[in-house]
Amino acid sequence: MATKRADKAPARPAKPAKGTDVSRSRERPARDAVPKRKESSAISPSKRRSLYAAAQYLSADVEREFGLQLPFNVFIQDPLVAREHPELGEDEQVWVQWEPGLADGPTSARFAVVDFNADTGNLAPAAQWNDELGSFVHGKTALNQTNAASLQFHQVNVWVLLQRALAFFESGNGLGRRIPWAFEGNRLIVVPHAGYGQNAYYDRVSKSLQFYYFGEEPDTVYTCLSSDIVSHEFGHAVLDGIRPYFNETASVQTAAFHEFIGDLTAILMSLQNGAFRKWLARKTGGDMSKAEQLSSIAEQFGRAAEGKPYLRSARNEESMSKVASSQSEHRVSQVLTGAMFDILMALSKHYAKARERTALQAFWDVAQRMQRMAIQPLDLLPPAEVTFRDYALAVVRAEELANPLDPHGYRKMLIKAFRGRGILSKRDEDELAEPRYLYWRPKLLVFHDIDQLSGSRAAAYRFLDDNRDELLIPAMQDIVVADLYDASKLTREGNRLPRQIVLEYIWREHVPLKGRQFGQFNGQSATLLCGGTLVFDETGTLLSWMRKPGTVGRTLRHGKHLGTKLDKAWAAEVQEGQQRRDDLLRSAAAELAAGRVGVVAGSEKGLLGTRLPPVTAESDRDVVTFRLSPHLSLSGDDDDDDEGERRWEISS
Ligand SMILES: [Zn+2]
Repeated sequence: MATKRADKAPARPAKPAKGTDVSRSRERPARDAVPKRKESSAISPSKRRSLYAAAQYLSADVEREFGLQLPFNVFIQDPLVAREHPELGEDEQVWVQWEPGLADGPTSARFAVVDFNADTGNLAPAAQWNDELGSFVHGKTALNQTNAASLQFHQVNVWVLLQRALAFFESGNGLGRRIPWAFEGNRLIVVPHAGYGQNAYYDRVSKSLQFYYFGEEPDTVYTCLSSDIVSHEFGHAVLDGIRPYFNETASVQTAAFHEFIGDLTAILMSLQNGAFRKWLARKTGGDMSKAEQLSSIAEQFGRAAEGKPYLRSARNEESMSKVASSQSEHRVSQVLTGAMFDILMALSKHYAKARERTALQAFWDVAQRMQRMAIQPLDLLPPAEVTFRDYALAVVRAEELANPLDPHGYRKMLIKAFRGRGILSKRDEDELAEPRYLYWRPKLLVFHDIDQLSGSRAAAYRFLDDNRDELLIPAMQDIVVADLYDASKLTREGNRLPRQIVLEYIWREHVPLKGRQFGQFNGQSATLLCGGTLVFDETGTLLSWMRKPGTVGRTLRHGKHLGTKLDKAWAAEVQEGQQRRDDLLRSAAAELAAGRVGVVAGSEKGLLGTRLPPVTAESDRDVVTFRLSPHLSLSGDDDDDDEGERRWEISS
């Protein structure tokens, strides 16, 4: 593992967590230089397979030499950028991990490309896997930029981008664990030419990513060829997989968080690309504030569909107060995207100056650092109804855990960025500045061994139930363990953080909807999702605990409040729960008033197509559940804009 620079070293393999297959989840930083690679035919299939089993101990160079990583040819950004900046178009070799199960489609462990066009009814022939060539072919031709117009090249292009994006989230610089999907099944279906339209979707119900195309040849815009669009939609799929309850809400901010993750994924995946970084360094001389190609999301789409140089920009002046009355999740998301881009710019400035790095080196540092700073905190988030503030606090806490001494003052920089956008308050800032212990153990009634409680959901439930009072969980609520997993994350220079055990739990409260503002739902009840996410290290120390309280208070053991610390904690918890209930009522009324809620009957759930309401309401007896549309899209349809004319019908 000889390497020139420590921060580029392939990370040491993380200790495999119990019951998880981490053989492919180790870090593989992309190299700029393409090493000489022997033809993959030089190694027999059986030898490749045994090397693959040991791949976590191999460096990227060795993997590439022996065909465990394969080079592919894809569009770096999109065909328009490629035309206008040829150096950002072709000849880029991006590396994808070989897998034993690669097959026609392309099909891999987690994706299956199915090129069915619902408008024409045409099922395009699939790109075929050729094990000898180590590439996908159509007929006898290897698929690359020379046949970029073929549907089969499109299939490979989108698959390569997705494989890389998945590796980005699963690597130690990301979540350090395998990502589940939010649906039954392990292969996300990818439809590169789903039909004619100006959009792209992630759809949980049909377990798919759907990419549409529009315009006349030769200027047809294929959304499956845009790395920003593919990354954005994949961001939805990942977030839905790791926090499936985020879609059960009427809150614009939670919907906007989904959009934020989409755009953040697009920005960070661009930055992962070596050719793109090189070009950016040359063009900007290291000054990120000149990096429009990075902050601009979906250039070709924006120009063709909306007549703008891009669809959205991360360099914006949005703040919480400016978007306070907006019901558009795409607009609201820009506050948080903007804050993270502020952080990215501050980091690049810092790296260029403090470390005396060249612009190119500084961009590499920024790419790595941003991946850790922005992605790792996702595991700390509460299981439901996330707010921008929750994310900001998670980012600050994750940074504190990874970098407790903070010699460069990153935490202050993070807090400043979130304060600047109105995401954190002055009070938050003051509280975060107070000296405190890095770790603490909750005072529990019944101690459980961490190995035991992390062993199964049933065991985790008993831990929660045994300690309801201390964990601020109401005595009578039936709680559910929403998820339980281990993660092996990395910090700088490939150092391993302590293993994290993450336990998410939820319960539901019914909130009566009373008044004409609730239209046909007047007299029914909505559900308030409550719960929390506990993160322990391997010794049982509590690293993080984010909660979404309900309105039900403590069952008193001795019949009266004693004014203890725990009494006070409960009182604060209930107060926050009441606030959440009021927010739910307000959001539901606002979404209904804006005509953004559609009623979904059972038969419509699997509907494909481009028009679904942003929020759906499902009534079951007297309980109504508000959900984000199963279609999480790239851009607002007209119904999604603040001035939108389309109103979704609600039967009366
Ligand atoms: Zn989206």
